Amino acid sequence: MLKNAGIVLLIVVSLVGCRFKKKTPPSTLKVVDPKVWVDEHTQSNADSVSVKHLHLDIKVEMDKKQIAGSALWTISNNHKQKELILDTYGLIIDSVIVDGNSVSYQLDSPIKFLGSALHIPIVENSKFVAIHYKTGLNARALQWLDPQQTHDKKFPFLYTQSEAIYARSWIPCPDGPGMRFTYTARVSVPKGLMALMSAENTDIVNDTGIYHFKMNLPIPAYLMALAVGDLAFSGIDERTGVYAEKGMLEKARYEFENVGRMVGCAEQLYGPYRWGRYDILVLPPGFPLGGMENPRLTFCTPSIIAGDRSLVSLIAHELAHSWSGNLVTNATWNDFWLNEGFTVYFERRIMEQLMGETYSDMLWELGYQDLENTVASLGPTHKDTWLKLNLKGRDPDDGLTDIAYEKGCLLLRLLEKTAGRDRFDKFLVSYFDANAFKTITTETFLNFLDTGLIKNDTVLRKKLNIDEWVYGPGIPSNAPRAGRDLFNKVDAQREKFLSGMPAEKIAFVHWSAHEWLHFLRGMPPGLMPSQMAQLDDAFNFTNSGNSEVADMWFFLAIRTNYYQAYPAMERFLSTIGRRKFLEPLYQEMMLSPNGEEMAKRLYAKYRKNYHPIAQESLNEIVLKLN
Ligand SMILES: [Zn+2]
Repeated sequence: MLKNAGIVLLIVVSLVGCRFKKKTPPSTLKVVDPKVWVDEHTQSNADSVSVKHLHLDIKVEMDKKQIAGSALWTISNNHKQKELILDTYGLIIDSVIVDGNSVSYQLDSPIKFLGSALHIPIVENSKFVAIHYKTGLNARALQWLDPQQTHDKKFPFLYTQSEAIYARSWIPCPDGPGMRFTYTARVSVPKGLMALMSAENTDIVNDTGIYHFKMNLPIPAYLMALAVGDLAFSGIDERTGVYAEKGMLEKARYEFENVGRMVGCAEQLYGPYRWGRYDILVLPPGFPLGGMENPRLTFCTPSIIAGDRSLVSLIAHELAHSWSGNLVTNATWNDFWLNEGFTVYFERRIMEQLMGETYSDMLWELGYQDLENTVASLGPTHKDTWLKLNLKGRDPDDGLTDIAYEKGCLLLRLLEKTAGRDRFDKFLVSYFDANAFKTITTETFLNFLDTGLIKNDTVLRKKLNIDEWVYGPGIPSNAPRAGRDLFNKVDAQREKFLSGMPAEKIAFVHWSAHEWLHFLRGMPPGLMPSQMAQLDDAFNFTNSGNSEVADMWFFLAIRTNYYQAYPAMERFLSTIGRRKFLEPLYQEMMLSPNGEEMAKRLYAKYRKNYHPIAQESLNEIVLKLN
């Protein structure tokens, strides 16, 4: 392993959970008025009815792999609508009751990606709408794990992933980021298991198997979250702690020891943390993302439990979402960069504070490389490389590319560098404050920027050239780039190795995982298996305990037919569910001469270990299903 070679692996890249890539066809943009917007990914009219509160009363049946119960919505029909329309996806509706009376509802035929609109008749003074329902077989948000698929292998496990539009597959709801509500819940689970939500949580398993939850702050449906399993809690300080399966709890507790400091650091930058507690739930390995910013309870992959706190930067990202995303939310998925670009910028500022500028500059450079690759693969003039997207008629997952993350955060870095850090930080504090618990469009942000930062500074306005960033393709010419030189020594060592210097002569002392990742990333396509073997002998990459480095190494192993790494790669693919790792490996197998058979065999064997949304991506890549 790398650690055996005497290398201290510091924090790796900002490998953000909610990040994955897809290629999509071009589309045209409709610029909307800043004050109104059209969310093409919800069929609900909850914004005109005013849906205020949800009370969820559900039973989680682990054996049947089904959730059944009721969703009771408190509404206020001030605009005298004749019906309330909610989003559903594959739900079985048993009955609908409005203010105590059973009503005839209409469930439309499903529309691709969007599911079936549920039409419920209401009158002017209707107050309570209860839907009795069950989840269907194709509930996209849910992953049901058999005991064998968990860490401790004793009990079954369930967890949800609601972003972007999967909440409707387990709750009939207004499933658009622009509609917020508070919630309470009563959740019944098999005795002995613990249930957790994105809400006020218990820290002990109770005897009844019935758990009560409360979220008093309004959140959009994509932040609804539930996990059920054989879980235990360990507190870190007065407002942070960690939940995990019992066999992993101690390790997880050690890994996240400094999370309380991280919350304090974030508060110093951009104002108070407004959600009360900040806890982390470590999920079983099949979790398809790095992390998910569920309020009060970040869900995270166990692949960041490295034993040396080297991968916790991912937590900085999920924590930063407590401001950008959860507090100030993108109004539609076309404005997704407002959630993710701000969060990556914020995350790197936290990392700069904790680890120093050299360290964060390396993160900026690796991010820049990711952006260049994404622009190259989409095409430099492709409209999906605009910050403002048009995802009409498409799956919102199509917008989850590095454009939102890396081009988005680069625009904020440009604002910081051009206006000055002090001025920009003050602007950001006022932005989070003025828009707290609101949803905003790109255009609202641009107006806010105009009045709050640019004001009448025509020189600044000209330097920024914002329109080119938001409504133009590729990487604008004024994009700031720092940290490139920090990798010069790594490039030089790679060059020497490629020119024949033996691997054991590589001067790597004090290289962090950033540097190793850059070293491997820069390997040319024509690398020989014998060169891979030399590197492996010197650094034991095949058995790297760092999931980021391992993933890059296995990618090279497929490309170069370095068979010695295949057994370790199979173990990796059997236990890791992160799409970010799975997609490039399966994609590369499909491209290599003998790889297609291997990809199909491995996918058939391990598919059940992957979350439904990871399966959807891999069905396209491996089985060529659309
Ligand atoms: Zn994110």
